[in-house]
Amino acid sequence: MNEFTLTVVSPLSMTAWIVVERFDGLVHTHTKIIRGFVIPMNWNSPTHPEFLTTDGRRLPVNRIFCIAKNYEEHAKEMGGEVDRKAPFHFQKSFDALTFGPDVRYPSHTEDLHHEVELVAVLGEGGRNLSLKEAEAIIFGYAVGLDFTRRDRQAEAKDKGRPWEIAKNFDDAGVMGVVTPKSETGLMENAAITLDVNGQERQAGDINQMAYNTVELIAFLSSLQELKAGDLVFTGTPSGVGAVVRGDHLHGKIAGLKDLEIRLI
Ligand code: MN
Repeated sequence: MNEFTLTVVSPLSMTAWIVVERFDGLVHTHTKIIRGFVIPMNWNSPTHPEFLTTDGRRLPVNRIFCIAKNYEEHAKEMGGEVDRKAPFHFQKSFDALTFGPDVRYPSHTEDLHHEVELVAVLGEGGRNLSLKEAEAIIFGYAVGLDFTRRDRQAEAKDKGRPWEIAKNFDDAGVMGVVTPKSETGLMENAAITLDVNGQERQAGDINQMAYNTVELIAFLSSLQELKAGDLVFTGTPSGVGAVVRGDHLHGKIAGLKDLEIRLI
């Protein structure tokens, strides 16, 4: 790795690193600030990824909440049903997120599945939010893909294990350009589709969600404090299936920027 760090020690034991990531005509850096006396060298952990907005801003992603079984027809095709008592969710790590266009096919699966989803991006945080408050903190929306090692998920279900191995890996989550809610308004109805190599695989409408976006955010805020930059992948309509290296995926939600990626 052709990386090096410049260390500047300021009063109050505040240590700032300017981490040089790469040179390609421009110098790409990020800054890390850590309090303390121990100075690890080359502490080069990833910074939070930044999504792009339709008006040209880049904003950092915090956590990634993903809702499972939120469309009746998809719950059925998975041999289950929507839980009407409460939504069911898991998380992906922020560094499992990519923006494409190339998405790496993961190890440890022979059955990688696509799930196209509406992604709600939070612009503020809060806890125990009312529906009205939950709606107010939505910053915007994007088209997303929740990639799943379906074979590993089936094993996890059989063994009563968590879904971690099935859902959280390099490039497991993909999101497109975010359109601010100030442009879209609250999204309640919109066609959602996914084409693979030009053929439609998934088709539905976001109004088929068992729990709508606002209800999901209010629910999540009852479990932990939500923060700006949190993403909510709101579940997938029916038609999920396997993809292979070389496939071209094209996700669309009416009113948002398309998401086009290629598996490599
Ligand atoms: Mn999903």
